[in-house]
Parts: sequence; C-alpha cells; structure tokens
Amino acid sequence: MSSDLLARDRRVIWHPFTQALTAPEPIAAVSANGAEIVDAEGNVILDMISSWWVNLHGHGHPLIADAIAAQARTLEQVIFATCTHAPAVDLAEGIVALLPDPLARVFYSDNGSTAVEVALKMALQYFRNLGDTRRTRFVAMDGAYHGDTVGAMSLGVSCGIFDTWGEMLFSVDTLPNAPTWEGDDAVEAKEAQALAALDAYLDANRDTVVAAIVEPLVQGAGGMRMCRPAFLKAWVEKLKAAGALIVFDEVMTGFGRLGDLFACVKAGVAPDFVCLSKGITGGFMPMAATVTTDAIYAAFLSKDTAKAFLHGHSYTANPLGCAAGNASLKLLLDPACAKRRAEIEAFHRAALAEVAKLPGVRKPRVAGTVAALNLDPGGAEQGLGAAVGLKLKAFFKGENMLIRPLGNVVYLLPPYCVTDEQLARAWDSIARGIRAVSV
Ligand SMILES: *Cc1c(COP(=O)(O)O)cnc(C)c1O
Repeated sequence: MSSDLLARDRRVIWHPFTQALTAPEPIAAVSANGAEIVDAEGNVILDMISSWWVNLHGHGHPLIADAIAAQARTLEQVIFATCTHAPAVDLAEGIVALLPDPLARVFYSDNGSTAVEVALKMALQYFRNLGDTRRTRFVAMDGAYHGDTVGAMSLGVSCGIFDTWGEMLFSVDTLPNAPTWEGDDAVEAKEAQALAALDAYLDANRDTVVAAIVEPLVQGAGGMRMCRPAFLKAWVEKLKAAGALIVFDEVMTGFGRLGDLFACVKAGVAPDFVCLSKGITGGFMPMAATVTTDAIYAAFLSKDTAKAFLHGHSYTANPLGCAAGNASLKLLLDPACAKRRAEIEAFHRAALAEVAKLPGVRKPRVAGTVAALNLDPGGAEQGLGAAVGLKLKAFFKGENMLIRPLGNVVYLLPPYCVTDEQLARAWDSIARGIRAVSV
C-alpha cells in the first residue's frame, strides 16, 4: 500500500534537494516503462524530465535491462586498479570513437560530480608533473552548476545554491556568460562584453590558469541557460591561447541531449577533458567517465609513483554500468534515435512558439531535446525557492506530469522515446499551468 510506504519513507528516508517540511508527498513509484512511471495507486505519470536528465531511451528498455542481467550473472564487479574487462574497454572505445580528436583516454567513476572532480585534479596535477607551479587558478562561467561535491560546488558557486558551505569552498574565477533565447536582440552585445571581460581577465592572469570548465551550450541546473556555439568557441579559443586546459562538463549535454551526440561536436570544439555521466547508461546505473587526451595521460607516466593519478573509487568501471552503457550506446547510434531527437526539437519549437504568446512568458529557448522558458515577474532566474515554481510543481503533480521547474524556469527534457501525443500533453499542461498560476 502506498500510504504505508509513504509513512515508512517519512520515518527513515532523507530525500535529495527537498525541503521535507513543505514538499508534497513523493511519488511511490512501482514500475516504469518508456516515458511513463506507474505509482502504487496505479496512476500513470509522464516523466518529462528523464528522471533528472539520466534517461535516454525510456524506462525499462529491454535491451539495456537484459544486458545488465546477463552481465550480473557473468562478472558483477572487480577491482579496476588490478583488473580490466571487456565491458569497460568496449565502452571506452565506443565513447572515444564519438568524441573529437585528440580525446582518447577514459577514466571511469560513478557520478557527474566525481567526473568533474577527476578532471580538476588531473588538470592541476598535469601542470605539477610538468614542473609548472605558477598555474593555480580555475575559471568557471557565471551561472554554472558542476555537481555537489566540494570541488564541484566551488566551481558552481555562482549558481547560488551553495552559499551555506562558503567556508569549505576554494576560490574560483567566475567569468560572465552570454545566455540567449529566441528573439534576443542584445545577444551580440552580451557576447562581445563577455569576451572583453575574458580578455581583461587573461591580460592580468595569463600564466596562472590551470583549467576553465564550462557546461557547453546549455547550463542545466543554473536555469537551462543557453548560449550560441560561436560564442562558446571564441571563449574557449582565448583560454586555450593562454595555455589553460579546457574542461567540458557534458554530464547533462552528452549522449544526444542537444541533438548532436555531444555538445563539443555541436560547437566544433575539442576540449582537453569531457566529463560524462547521467545519460551514459541510458539512465539505468550510476556511472561516469572523464575523457582526456593521450598528451595529458603521457604527463603521468613516470618511474615515480607520485606522478601517477592516485585517485579511484570502489566501484570504478563497474561491469554492470559498463554493460548498460554499451547497450545504451547501441540504441543511441541507431539512425532512428537521431531522427527522433530532431523531431522532438521541431515539436518543441512549434509548441514553444505558441506558449511564448501567453502573458508572463519570457526567454523561450530550445537546444535539441531541451526546451525552456522563464516566467515573470522579472523574467530573470529567481532561484530554486521561487513561489511560482513551487506552485507549478504542485499543478503538474495534479496532472500526473513529472515536470520540475527550476525556480521560475519551466523546462522539458524528455526521454528520446517520448511520443508526439505525450509531448502534446506536456505542452498543453504547461500552457494551462502558466494560466493557472498567473491569475
Ligand atoms: C547533474 C550534473 C552534475 C552532477 O552529476 P551528479 O551525478 O548529480 O553528481 C554535474 N554537472 C552537470 C552539468 C550536471 O547536470
């Protein structure tokens, strides 16, 4: 019974990113299939956020489920400091084949925050191994989110949700972004300003930057803030010219989320590191990878153990996760998947053009399978506690629609298996929700 489960949940569970005193009851999920989650009462809930952006091909996809089951019966887990196995090598080869040269070397971990921490630590140690001690600074973009561990929080301090832990964080140089949307007349001026700010920063800090980290093309948790590929490319080129390493946090944007397989491909940029997680297993298993170049890898090769990357996690390269990743990659590379992603984008554009006419809707924007808008008052991002977002969350719950506004930012990020009929229902729900909260 769901009421019994909810009562037991209330006694023993602490939910992530949730104010338990005021949050509505959690959904007592029993099963899930495609874009739908079924709860203990038999309600069918449409998952329009891919269960926190992890799901690609739908819940319960049999190809991925079977791959995990078969792997569990064969080899469930081995220590990866001492062993290797085919699922890990297959997945690394599969991912490297899809990323631009010279990305060629895969380090596994198990969540997005950790994939970022690994890139930070590798970048700093790379310079230390080369004997360069001047480079000590990390650059991030305004509004970024890179995860919840201490290093990732330090990089994402400007997204405004980590102020509580200020004393724990190391200092990071946060530079302006140039977010844009449909019909934004000021985009060129904003981009020029952000690039000028970067020039000024680099003039003063030329040889001190270890790495610049960015969520390429779309900043997710900071409010689905999108920028133009040419701006990102120009920003990266300036930092590269100053000798900084470039880290693309593609934890959300990877594996087709923005239409193209990876944002670095879409932007035509080859970074020194790509951080992957979320969609890597199609949303079935916790898994992450930090991909870098052989030039960086080579700087860790030495007779001196201290020059090795002395970092690892108990479940590094878990075979079940790798097996899920290989199955998911197969589905992702089916031409039908790319076609469907393009259709989802076209659907979003048409539906958003209508919804954008509603009073209070600002900054409509689409990148691949991600669509977003801001709600007045103000149109600016208002933080996770924005009243309008909490009201909308409750409205969508009543509609059996899993849509979680980020403050006053309403977005859809559906699994690629979503049907036109499901998309139409979601957009209809958004339109009625906006009308309901704006009176
Ligand atoms: C979700 C996210 C992370 C953190 O991933 P976790 O698996 O939640 O630790 C890091 N970066 C980006 C861009 C993300 O969207």
